[in-house]
Amino acid sequence: MSTTKVKAIVVSGTKVKDKDKILNLYTLEQGNICVSMRGVRGDKAKLKSAKEIFCFGEFVIEQTKNINIVTAVDIIDNFYDLSKDIEKYYEGCAILDIVDKLFQEANAQLFIIVIKALETLCYDKVKKYYVLDKFLLDIFNAMGYQFLSNKCSSCNAVLGNKYFNLDVGEIVCPACKTASCIKVSEACYSALRILNSTSYDKLFSLKLGGMGEVEAYNLLSQNFQWRTGYKLINMI
Ligand SMILES: [Zn+2]
Repeated sequence: MSTTKVKAIVVSGTKVKDKDKILNLYTLEQGNICVSMRGVRGDKAKLKSAKEIFCFGEFVIEQTKNINIVTAVDIIDNFYDLSKDIEKYYEGCAILDIVDKLFQEANAQLFIIVIKALETLCYDKVKKYYVLDKFLLDIFNAMGYQFLSNKCSSCNAVLGNKYFNLDVGEIVCPACKTASCIKVSEACYSALRILNSTSYDKLFSLKLGGMGEVEAYNLLSQNFQWRTGYKLINMI
């Protein structure tokens, strides 16, 4: 039996037995891991506040032969205010759901992005979809897609009217449009470019026009499904 300490965020959990919970943690050091928390669903449980999604902290884990057991947690932030705003809560849940499904390996850069995105969502006055759109853009950037160039990704022509080609995950011109393309309006394209180039701590100062962020979300969520096979959770 060995003991390790990891920095982690709770991304999902399942109730087991009377008072136990199995959690999926996304950790800075080991990527996605599954841990058991014993007795945490009791009223007087010492670690009960660390068993919920969004809890970010340092987890002490004892590794036994079959399972990792959490023995102590030093909570850094549980992003409690997200639970007071249903729209922000859903946006936060979508971020955790993406992490839970996609992020397997340890990746310090992605770990920092997840925490920054949740901090922005929780503490800054940012309009709906801005944080989630930026988070999705960060993920596609990390996957190596660069679809915000001003040239058609297929023929290299300078872009006027734009279409997003789901087959390749990039933007093309009208001449290169195929049946798998979605029209990208100027409001949407502009929202994508601005969100991509604005840091999380400056998102609160943005005011995008023409509901571009909503269209951007529709495009990014369709692209996410095509690229990964997973559907994002429904927004309200
Ligand atoms: Zn083209």
